[in-house]
Amino acid sequence: MWLLPQGALLVRGAGGYDGGMNLDFSEDEISRYSRHILLREVGGVGQAQLREARVLLVGAGGLGSPLLMYLAAAGVGTIGLVDDDVVDLSNLQRQIAHTTGSLGTPKVESAIERAHAINPLVRIAPHRTRLGVENILEVFAEYDIVCDGTDNFPTRFLISDACVLAKKTLVSAAVLRFDGQLSTFKPHAGEGCPCYRCLYPAPPPDGLVPTCSEAGVLGAVTGVMGTLQATEVLKEILGIGESMSGRVLVWDALSARFRTIKLRPDPACIACGPNATLKDLSGHGDTAGPACAI
Ligand SMILES: [Zn+2]
Repeated sequence: MWLLPQGALLVRGAGGYDGGMNLDFSEDEISRYSRHILLREVGGVGQAQLREARVLLVGAGGLGSPLLMYLAAAGVGTIGLVDDDVVDLSNLQRQIAHTTGSLGTPKVESAIERAHAINPLVRIAPHRTRLGVENILEVFAEYDIVCDGTDNFPTRFLISDACVLAKKTLVSAAVLRFDGQLSTFKPHAGEGCPCYRCLYPAPPPDGLVPTCSEAGVLGAVTGVMGTLQATEVLKEILGIGESMSGRVLVWDALSARFRTIKLRPDPACIACGPNATLKDLSGHGDTAGPACAI
């Protein structure tokens, strides 16, 4: 039997104590999450916050795989997974939620089976669909935090605009070849908090930026970036540490260098600026294009 310091369950997570929160844990939960509960920044209250959190992952691919497995392992109580693709042999070099035995099966089914094998206590809702103007706000409504793990700009802009309109925190990661980027966007949190369009005002012309299927990606790079993304989601839920809002993490795996770049809100931003013109998603047309996961 492991040792739980007396009163550890009453330690407050730095995210603040919600008096209405259910702090009852089973013996199994206490054992499963003991290394979290021992952390002063998490404690029992933080673990209860994780259990009550609702996080949506868009893409069950190279980023979504470690993201899903770590959030499920961490006890994030409600996780949604959006993907309309099936497992292909070319996915397995990086999409570690899927196995050779799951070739041809829907990625949401394959990934959820793997995550539930790690932690059957969390609820994982499959959304086997392609996000578009017609359904994205309805899907987002059930969640507090959205994670982007897609590999094309039309979908990234649609997800960002929907998050701004619905006031959802967006934890976004991207990879290409040997490079990774990560940031958190939550302009609803107040001054100094930019959105994705403050970084990229508009999608680049078609074909200018290659996708991973055109340019390639080192599989382990998606693993690192998806795991960093999971870490930032957990920090946002717990309200601990320094948020990545207002900063962009850039990683060059070949030189093994991380850099953090300051990102300020763009006063001319059409989505979150003082004179924002984005009032709905009509500018995105009927479909967002292919929502392939990285
Ligand atoms: Zn903005």
